[in-house]
Amino acid sequence: MTDLMSKIISLSKRRGFIFQSSEIYGGFGSCYDFGPLGVEMKNNIKKAWWEEMTRSKENIVGLDAAILMSPKIWEASGHLTAGFADELVECKKCHHRFRKDFLEESECPDCAGSLTEPRKFNLMMKTFVGPLEDEASCAYLRAETCQGIYVNFLNVLNSSRLKIPFGIAQIGKAFRNEITPGNFIYRTREFEQMELQWFCHPKEADDFFQYWKKERMKWYLDLGVKKENLRFRDVEKEELAHYAKAATDIEYKFPFGWKEIEGIHNRGEWDLSNHSKHSGEDLRYFDEKKKEKYFPHIIETSVGADRSFLAFLVDAYSEVKGGRTKTTEAAKEEEIVLKLGKKIAPVKLAVLPLVRNKPELVKKAEEIYKSLKSDFACYYDEVGSIGRRYRRQDEIGTIFCLTVDFDSLEKDDLTVRDRDTMKQERIKINDLAEVLKEKLGK
Ligand code: ATP
Repeated sequence: MTDLMSKIISLSKRRGFIFQSSEIYGGFGSCYDFGPLGVEMKNNIKKAWWEEMTRSKENIVGLDAAILMSPKIWEASGHLTAGFADELVECKKCHHRFRKDFLEESECPDCAGSLTEPRKFNLMMKTFVGPLEDEASCAYLRAETCQGIYVNFLNVLNSSRLKIPFGIAQIGKAFRNEITPGNFIYRTREFEQMELQWFCHPKEADDFFQYWKKERMKWYLDLGVKKENLRFRDVEKEELAHYAKAATDIEYKFPFGWKEIEGIHNRGEWDLSNHSKHSGEDLRYFDEKKKEKYFPHIIETSVGADRSFLAFLVDAYSEVKGGRTKTTEAAKEEEIVLKLGKKIAPVKLAVLPLVRNKPELVKKAEEIYKSLKSDFACYYDEVGSIGRRYRRQDEIGTIFCLTVDFDSLEKDDLTVRDRDTMKQERIKINDLAEVLKEKLGK
């Protein structure tokens, strides 16, 4: 674990972003819970994705398919066969398990012991549906959200009267019995995916693949992720999944190395033709104008909400040695500032009375807080020195601190402090909501 990751994990727990699941029972295998700030931030990520992929685009509709589906789907998709199995090796000495494709050496990276022969390990999580626990009632928690989209292709097409090209977007949980989960929420066994499946004419698939690559990279940049921490990695032909004609990963430079956060795939006609074959339903598209019937090709963009959460968090984390708020107590310490983008930050505003022993000040601050809280994710804090309170807000990425001081009582205004520049601006309370909406891009 790198020093930076330890600091991020500790901040996440201390400030209520992410907790270890079942912590009071000793935790539970690589599962995590999102705390009060974490759930706000994760919702912001999902909202930003949904708005980008549906509202700001033409011809994309949403779907929320069930997690449990007919096991026949997973047979057709290849998930129950070798297609969705990783090769597992185990150390004969310490019994730690590893994915073979992740190992650089042929010995155990933990104790240098010798390893077993690799064996296939299926990643699907099994459960039972109904009162009996037998083979016939066996079902699976979905390992990816996209299958729910493919099997609803006709339903969406017929009910929405869409024409090719069009897209179906979905956000939802997926489960994989990962052999080596780790790096905090980077690889977990339960996670959330945000996926777009774009259906197009076969001749247009290559162009749309390029189009979606650009669009998806732009999404991260627009949300404030640093350019130097993002890159494309084209997947080599030999590495391609059985369904893919071409694939590119968007990678982020985590403290533990460059790693995939999103996969963009040209899946060709594989999914629809395959489900047609297995289900007996004709999933071809009929173009009435051209009198042409064909299996649409699919371009997929697939990103983990949790994995991108970690990228946003790492990217925003910064430390200022010696303190930047310059209060005596703070100056001795290191200050953390989470420079999260405006859309992603879990708290947008904090209302702070300068002191708490002046009832008129506290009353005014409380009134302002109440008037803003239904429109903005907003905090109220009156405990501790003003410098300490600024630091607490900087640490969770609050964009603006609104300080109600003695002048506020006479002039009916307050100071708006910017998290990144620390500049303070006086704004009339009557204009506050409008000014803040503009500043936050609402
Ligand atoms: P990896 O090679 O890291 O196992 P993958 O190529 O199998 O990932 P995809 O099946 O393409 O991943 O899934 C698309 C996205 O879903 C990934 O880019 C990632 O953001 C997310 N994802 C996949 N597996 C996990 C996991 N175990 N934990 C968290 N997020 C995941």
